[in-house]
Amino acid sequence: MRMSKLFVQTLREYPSDAEVISHKLLVRAGYIRKLTNGIYNYLPLMQRVLHKIENIVREEMNNAGAQELLMPFVQPSELWLESGRWEVYGKELMRLKDRHNREMCLGPTHEEVITSVAREGIRSYKQLPINLYQIQSKFRDEIRPRFGLLRGREFIMKDAYSFDADEAELDKSYEIMAKAYKKIFERCGLETKMVQSDSGAIGGSVSHEFMVLINEDSENNAGENDVFYCSECGYSANSNHAVSNLEKAQTDGGFTSAQIKNTPNTATITELADYLQIPPSVICKCLIYVIDGKYVAALIRGDKTVEETKLMNEFQGNEIRIARNDEIEEIMANSGFNAVAGFIGPKGLKGVEIIADKTVLELKNFVIGINQTDKHLTGANWGIDVELPVKTADIRLVEENDLCCDCGAKLKVTKGIEVGNIFKLGTKYSKAMNATFTDKDGQEKPFIMGCYGIGISRTAAAAVERHHDDNGIIWPKSIAPYLVTVVPVSDQDETQMKVAEEIYNKLLEKNVEVLIDDRAERAGVKLKDADLIGIPYRITVGKTIKDNLVEFKTRQNGEVETITPDEAVKRILDLV
Ligand code: ATP
Ligand code: MG
Repeated sequence: MRMSKLFVQTLREYPSDAEVISHKLLVRAGYIRKLTNGIYNYLPLMQRVLHKIENIVREEMNNAGAQELLMPFVQPSELWLESGRWEVYGKELMRLKDRHNREMCLGPTHEEVITSVAREGIRSYKQLPINLYQIQSKFRDEIRPRFGLLRGREFIMKDAYSFDADEAELDKSYEIMAKAYKKIFERCGLETKMVQSDSGAIGGSVSHEFMVLINEDSENNAGENDVFYCSECGYSANSNHAVSNLEKAQTDGGFTSAQIKNTPNTATITELADYLQIPPSVICKCLIYVIDGKYVAALIRGDKTVEETKLMNEFQGNEIRIARNDEIEEIMANSGFNAVAGFIGPKGLKGVEIIADKTVLELKNFVIGINQTDKHLTGANWGIDVELPVKTADIRLVEENDLCCDCGAKLKVTKGIEVGNIFKLGTKYSKAMNATFTDKDGQEKPFIMGCYGIGISRTAAAAVERHHDDNGIIWPKSIAPYLVTVVPVSDQDETQMKVAEEIYNKLLEKNVEVLIDDRAERAGVKLKDADLIGIPYRITVGKTIKDNLVEFKTRQNGEVETITPDEAVKRILDLV
């Protein structure tokens, strides 16, 4: 391809609305252009990168025995009503009506459609196992589309779905996908960590995410996930799923009797701990949440934080938020109290389910709210002064230096970008949608399903997050739009142009993906653009051509060698 013909406009400046480096660089280097919030044009260079990633994904999915299909992007509401997700999916689901007033949606994911496909197409256990996948655009009306391709509203995903006759077979299908994913990301030049994760609204029990780890102190915060890991035994999990043991802390408040104390202006844990001269770990916090419209009071140690996803999952919820002040007022009124937030306690709450983090059960002679503003109960004990909570669970957010549950070592934390995930769905969709097959014994059974996603466009952006420098993108060879660019320093110099054209043609003949910068631009502009766009190799034809020498530059390490044009061509041919 000739740069003079290539549809690309590089910019001098970063776009003003971009926060993270992949967004900045992909716009500035002419890969993407925003159409509207969270929706991007993939320009020719980007399309080449996406095709590269897609082809790697295709090859590895096919190698793993999966078969590609393509399902519709627009889906009828009927299927979603069958699965029960039409009501619960929330605002990310973009709903619309057709001319006959039928409700439809833009596919955010395809469990419903694939289950209907399997329901019609798979009759017998003899057809199992089967794994079907597609590569397609998805639409999710994300609440905060941001970071360019990392969290768009429209984005490209590979989604695969496995159908098995029993759990043991699902385990095998899952394992095969885990291996395929590792290979896929490796081939894309991305090191990933496979971490345990929450299976969320999609249902099911076991799931893992593939994370590209991002340096915490990098200039941006593109890693939206906290990954806790143990460098001793290898345990790793997303914060929404991570568990830990706690280092020993003071859990006995030391109060000799239960007593209501005046605690003016102590709505926060710090204020209360300061006022009573006690450590926060002997306070039992009571936080009111709203989960799918219902009130929940969560009890947790004063020095710890509630992990909202864990809490929500305890109630099989889909949406969680902390209660507003007016909602707390409503609860107080219904329960015959009038305390404000900060003084709430579980005792006497009406219309509120109570759940305790299991670590609060260890508290003795502790401090807790009693629904009276500016007062707390000190020296409380479970079963005597406060009812022992019926529902207890692990709803605590893990923190760095907590202890690994598997080996006791200190956990570390890092930021990660989720580029893919694998879920064991079980029978959630097949049961709800009555998708069955006839088993060996002649019985009708629901399929045991798994689903497996890879964010194609997000993977491209994650590659930029990992591989760039001050001058621009440094694509891994396997997913670069072009492998090499030939740059004649002066388009006015006949010899330079002639040699550059010769190199270009020789490489073209061998089907190398090669660019030639034949534009009538200053050398500086051309060299800067080559770096910005991130082509892995550059052959520069300049003044030294009078000695039959060109510059061979490796973008990755910036190394420059002076070699003959023939050697340069050979170098590249050896690489492919
Ligand atoms: P996240 O937690 O980041 O929102 P998710 O759990 O919603 O992701 P899935 O529904 O399982 O993700 O989708 C599979 C893959 O699609 C994800 O691993 C991710 O790589 C990609 N993906 C999901 N949402 C987006 C988005 N808004 N923009 C780009 N890629 C996305
Ligand atoms: Mg999501």
